Amino acid sequence: MSYPYRNILVTGGAGFIGSHLVERLLAEGCRVEALDDLSTGSVSNLEPVQDREGFRLTVASVLDDQAVAVAVDRADAVFHLAAAVGVRLIVENPVRTIETNLSGTETVLRHAGKKGKPVLLASTSEVYGKQDSVPFTEEDDLVLGASRRPRWAYACSKLMDEFLALAHYRENKLPVVIARLFNTVGPRQTGTYGMVIPRFAGQALSGEPLTVYGDGSQTRTFCHVADAVEALTGLMATPAAHGKVFNAGGDGEVSILEVARQVIEAAGSKSTIEFVPFETAYDEEFEDMERRVPCLRKIEDVISYRPRRDLRRIIEDVLAWERACRSG
Ligand code: UDP
Repeated sequence: MSYPYRNILVTGGAGFIGSHLVERLLAEGCRVEALDDLSTGSVSNLEPVQDREGFRLTVASVLDDQAVAVAVDRADAVFHLAAAVGVRLIVENPVRTIETNLSGTETVLRHAGKKGKPVLLASTSEVYGKQDSVPFTEEDDLVLGASRRPRWAYACSKLMDEFLALAHYRENKLPVVIARLFNTVGPRQTGTYGMVIPRFAGQALSGEPLTVYGDGSQTRTFCHVADAVEALTGLMATPAAHGKVFNAGGDGEVSILEVARQVIEAAGSKSTIEFVPFETAYDEEFEDMERRVPCLRKIEDVISYRPRRDLRRIIEDVLAWERACRSG
């Protein structure tokens, strides 16, 4: 079956997840426009598709009302991925985080709403905050920290995006669907903004110590970007998913210390592990999440989604990518 939408706009299309999504949609036979201000995304992420028939890159911000209006007009459906992401970026640039995430989504939804164009909103597991009973289900209460800690501005801004998308669904019958992505990892992800596996991979390949924050007992559940893309395309294509929120992630909870060990082993590296206190890694206002595990029952029920790539595969693919970057 071919994809139900022909002309697709991907905001944040030059980003890590966005560029994989663009590739996948082009492979489905769609015409795809990527709108990206190249702040954290890059043209090189789109190298594999830049000459592909039906692909267009528009370099503009989601805060640029006119650019968004024109791009939404050309599309039959919108994947809205453009956002300030990455714990380091969020902590260091709280104003930009809040403005991009709130105004960007407001702009995209307003223009999509005028023409009734379906929107998939990429949200984040970060909205669960300090919730400590795992796995997280979409109906769970959300437990955010104090407003003086900038990390929670990210969760809160994405949560407002969710509320706004659901409000458009309720009030205007706009088909929206929300995917809460859990620690998505894969080729093209940069460690610059804090993401742990690309950082560890880079450190292991350079023979530097792997910087484990805290004691490394905190856990995450990592998801291969190819599985995340499967979830995003499936949710958008399924009318029964519209108006709803879904977790989208991997399975297999793992501690960060164990991830460090596995990266060292997979890289065949002689790197050691260095424990870095959170206050040194970020600042004294920082709070980390102890555990993060998605319940995937809802997304499995609606689109038969199951993650297919395990942590070993994720680490191998990230190492292969890091090696290719170094040699090329
Ligand atoms: N982390 C780490 N060393 C690093 C970067 C991150 O130990 O160099 C830890 C971080 O404190 C968190 C986990 O790895 O507990 C995942 O961090 P990431 O920024 O990838 O995503 P998060 O789940 O925090 O959004």
